Amino acid sequence: MKRLLSILFLTFLYLTAALSQDKLIRVGEVPGYVTLKCDFHMHTVFSDGEVWPTVRIEEAAKEGLDAIAITDHIEYQPNKEYISADLNAAWKIAGETARKKNIILVHGAEITRKMPPGHFNALFIEDAGKLTDKDFITVIREAIRQGAFIEWNHPGWKAQRPKGDAHLDSIHKVLLANGWLHGIELFNDIESYQGVLTLCIEHHLAVMANSDIHIPYETGYYPGSTHHRPMTLVFAKDRNEKELKEALFAGRTIVWYGDSLAGDKALADPFVKSCLTMGPVYCESEKYCWREIINNSDILFEIVVKSDDKLSDEPLKVSLSPNSITRLRLPVSLASRFVCTFTNVKVSDNVALEIISFFADSDLTIP
Ligand code: ZN
Repeated sequence: MKRLLSILFLTFLYLTAALSQDKLIRVGEVPGYVTLKCDFHMHTVFSDGEVWPTVRIEEAAKEGLDAIAITDHIEYQPNKEYISADLNAAWKIAGETARKKNIILVHGAEITRKMPPGHFNALFIEDAGKLTDKDFITVIREAIRQGAFIEWNHPGWKAQRPKGDAHLDSIHKVLLANGWLHGIELFNDIESYQGVLTLCIEHHLAVMANSDIHIPYETGYYPGSTHHRPMTLVFAKDRNEKELKEALFAGRTIVWYGDSLAGDKALADPFVKSCLTMGPVYCESEKYCWREIINNSDILFEIVVKSDDKLSDEPLKVSLSPNSITRLRLPVSLASRFVCTFTNVKVSDNVALEIISFFADSDLTIP
């Protein structure tokens, strides 16, 4: 009987262990790299967040992320009367769960100042306890000594910059001149900041989108046709912390927030193309031809198709829903040469991604 009970108990354990299932997020890729879905900005009870560190790992796994950083404020711990203020505690506590859930946990902290300079995340640090000096530059210098990647958080946060823009003050120029700034948030929580993409491209910095979440994560918290938190998509040579760090320092990122993407054209172009499969003309009449576009990703694409020789046909506006097949009826004049503008994919502050002769790779049967 005892033996039977223990077999039953072990079977129960085995079944419950096998039942842990998480979401698979389908996004595109850039040839030669794996796409890591990341959120590098969030809080726990060790600063002003409302959850225990291991919960952040459970949430990330459930949502299908590859990597996160817990970035509690160094200078602001409203719970410290009740919870020890070891600045590395959240990272230490969450480590074991991260390993079991196969989440890359980046050791981070948020350096918190009035604007300028504002708030900065130091990622891939060794010891947050050494980042407590009152002088901002001293802290940055120590973070850099530890090998940190420095991210400028919410540079146009309305509470600090009412106009919401992301201009550089002299202190930011000092960081840039010294090579002490490596990435900037274009999107934080539900805010986006004009000027960030241009700055990132000009200075070869990583463009970033993060949740900055303080409360427990719930599906549906963020707007968009696919529920997902703001994400930094990192193109790394492999799925591990070393390659994640290399890719971030090399600036190989684009961002996905709501139904929008933004990033350097050199990355956004192959990424978008990899999400979509263009079919050949499968039906034709005197005036029209028909093609299928398969969207193999969880990302919505809004496209405008127009002729590149300015013929009279009206531009065609199409929504390519996530994980769907869209059948396009195109005027014959658009059959072979046209421009696809992806209106929800920004490659510069006010410029949408354009792909010319998007169907050139597929089997064209119309002259
Ligand atoms: Zn924060």
